[in-house]
Amino acid sequence: MPNAGTCPKCSKGNVALAEFCAGCGFPLGNSQATVGRVPHPNPLPVPDGFRKVAAAADLFFGVHSAWGGKRLLATENLGITLLNVGYGLQEMAVKIEGFDGAGGRLFEIERRLALLQRGQRVEIEVPSYEIPDPPDAVDVRLVRAEYA
Ligand SMILES: [Zn+2]
Repeated sequence: MPNAGTCPKCSKGNVALAEFCAGCGFPLGNSQATVGRVPHPNPLPVPDGFRKVAAAADLFFGVHSAWGGKRLLATENLGITLLNVGYGLQEMAVKIEGFDGAGGRLFEIERRLALLQRGQRVEIEVPSYEIPDPPDAVDVRLVRAEYA
């Protein structure tokens, strides 16, 4: 974090390990439980086809094949587009899970992202050799993050 005590909402300087901003009450994320979980007061618009990232306030994802064709074909890489419409985040980890038609989990993959600023999109490629079977459904969950 550039400055642990600076409030991302109102920019007030706080003591380094304050849990809440003295100016506006915003959780400062010195507990990892809150970073990425606090909704931005003015989230950016979310494009059609994007779904909410679990355990995150303002992160969304879209699923596509890496070749731009029909999604989730057996022999193709899996492509995930992550979009941040809220507070800028860094040092992130997300968990990507694939499920079969009966809801059984086919795979679980963790990916790290150095930076995802407000309004930024990042492409995550999961090669087909990491996916034992083509999933019918994909979920993405925020594991941890810091404010950028
Ligand atoms: Zn504040």
